[in-house]
Amino acid sequence: MTLTDSHCHLASQKFTSDELHDIITRARERGVQRMVTLATCLDDCPQNISIAEQYPEVYACMGIHPCDVHETKDDYINELQIHASHPRCVAIGETGLDYYHPAPEGWSNDQYHSRQQEFLRQHFELAAQLGKNIVIHTRDRSGEASLHDAISIYRQYAPQVRAVFHCFPFSLKAAQPILDLGGLISFTGIATFKNAATVIETATNCPAGSFMLETDSPYLAPVPHRGQRNEPAYTYFTAEAIANARGESLTDLAAHTEATVNEFYGIGTDL
Ligand SMILES: [Zn+2]
Repeated sequence: MTLTDSHCHLASQKFTSDELHDIITRARERGVQRMVTLATCLDDCPQNISIAEQYPEVYACMGIHPCDVHETKDDYINELQIHASHPRCVAIGETGLDYYHPAPEGWSNDQYHSRQQEFLRQHFELAAQLGKNIVIHTRDRSGEASLHDAISIYRQYAPQVRAVFHCFPFSLKAAQPILDLGGLISFTGIATFKNAATVIETATNCPAGSFMLETDSPYLAPVPHRGQRNEPAYTYFTAEAIANARGESLTDLAAHTEATVNEFYGIGTDL
């Protein structure tokens, strides 16, 4: 059985570069043979690329996280394009819309959200231009406004680009427009939390081929490591919880989620 952590942040300051070797070894011991590490700002693009150059089991994505748009220069896109054109970059992201965190000082919510929307469109343009897919974050304080806004932007680009809506917290009904556009959702360790009934219900009922597994590490560690620093090895616990809920063997779940990862990120089973 092999698994992929389809979304983690190995360049996070919570991981030091001299422990990466051990983190990757622990992942392999749990069957997590591959990892996709995502940049969140221009500054951490080179580090994510260099990790992916150093470790053949790590692939990178290049993007500006919605919570970083106010700290990013207006003409960032050319620089992002250079990073994203690197052969180890397999998709654009992490991008998206975050209406959960309050606007930074000096910004109205409207200004902040429209800059996020503008960045999301620019990320889609770049993805279309480079022939890559895109990784989207959405988050709301309540309701689904960021999800709906991101889906309407996705709709304009869906003929050229596929999107994954990562750390998906909503019902299968809310996911349906994404799946209808040819997109995917992905699940983190939240699927192992006792109070996350909606997530596990969505993960149980969504069809094989429509979702991937991820840690979003260093955040959101699954049970039995909840509250600790997360790492790619823990993809295993999320896989186990979802396989149990779906009444599938771990091997079967791994087989279809691996096929989905290969297709979405355009990576082979060449390890
Ligand atoms: Zn993330």
